[in-house]
Amino acid sequence: MRDFRSERVCRIPPSGIRKFFDIAQEMEDVISLGVGEPDYDTPWNVREAAIRSIEQGQTAYTSNSGLIELRNEIKKYLGESFGVSYNPKNEIIITTGASEALDIAIRAVVNPGDEVLVADPSYIAYCSNVILSEGVPVPVPCHEKDEFRLTPDSLMEHITPKSKVLLCNFPNNPSGGVMSKDDYKAISDIVVDHDLLLISDEIYSELTYEGEKVCAASVDSLFERTITINGFSKAYSMTGWRVGYVCAPEQLCSAMLKIHQYVMLSAPTTAQHAAVEALRNGADACREMVQEYKIRRNLFVKGLNRAGLKTHLPKGAFYAFPNVSDYNISDEEFAERLLKEHHVAVVPGNVFGPSGKGHIRCSYAVSREDLMTSVERIEEFLSYL
Ligand code: PMP
Repeated sequence: MRDFRSERVCRIPPSGIRKFFDIAQEMEDVISLGVGEPDYDTPWNVREAAIRSIEQGQTAYTSNSGLIELRNEIKKYLGESFGVSYNPKNEIIITTGASEALDIAIRAVVNPGDEVLVADPSYIAYCSNVILSEGVPVPVPCHEKDEFRLTPDSLMEHITPKSKVLLCNFPNNPSGGVMSKDDYKAISDIVVDHDLLLISDEIYSELTYEGEKVCAASVDSLFERTITINGFSKAYSMTGWRVGYVCAPEQLCSAMLKIHQYVMLSAPTTAQHAAVEALRNGADACREMVQEYKIRRNLFVKGLNRAGLKTHLPKGAFYAFPNVSDYNISDEEFAERLLKEHHVAVVPGNVFGPSGKGHIRCSYAVSREDLMTSVERIEEFLSYL
């Protein structure tokens, strides 16, 4: 029998995070700082809205683009929070999580051989998504000395005549780096001069602890060449609901809609009703969660630095990204030994791209108690190294 798998799928690696979950699952007394999701339940009013929608029999497909009430709420949210204006009729699509939004955005614009500049370190799905479209991912380093922001110099160094797209995620998974509006303005001339499209994954935008939360498309010159991706998983603790959205000027949006309507038809209807409630009445719950993440971040980062592990203060998302390069072992070995010998699960930074090497990603979306116990365990581990 021949090998039926496509060349494209053979070229993408399995998720580097999975391996650590599998080891951790076999062990007892493990504190997992490995997961990339909030530790809260979805706010109750949001769950109730979903229950109500099922009781009322709202169980059919919605329009391909999603419930118009939800698109209207998204327009309002993006307008009030960031001053960007998308037309709910033809510039917003409700997707099955930000994950689908990323997929359809990349597939709608990447031709075989196109280079996609990826702000690095990056979310694990990006490079694989680009490869599945037969594009070429080109990591653009974001350095620790720059607080993991994308700088004009770094971007310039990696542009070639084949560059077509710049794919960014700020606040960043895994580094916690954020871009201010001025940071986006600083790269905007390069993006315009080289006729690039910006795909901006802003799934963590509500989880910004210092400075203003930002939407890249709010920079005037970027708006017409930006695809904005966001969702509900992080801000409202809704990872399991699978609902997100993508916004872009009409021509790009209708290109993405063609893919969405063939592969997804519409995002889950119940989840869309829940998302309407999240945007209408979820701001307080979101604020409370963000306040708690900030307290945990401060406790954890202070604890790690006190324990001797160099850790920059992340300004967004819910990940600390300590530098483990002083210990003469790779980040992979550091993570493996920390798990096997001291029962703390983290993710080695190299799985997020070349700039992640020498770091480990620790999620602080876990209880304060677990965070403090993990700091003690890490301190003990460091004393052996
Ligand atoms: N983008 C980034 C940067 C993420 O960290 C995640 C989830 N870990 C996603 C997208 C996927 O989000 P969703 O649950 O909305 O598909």
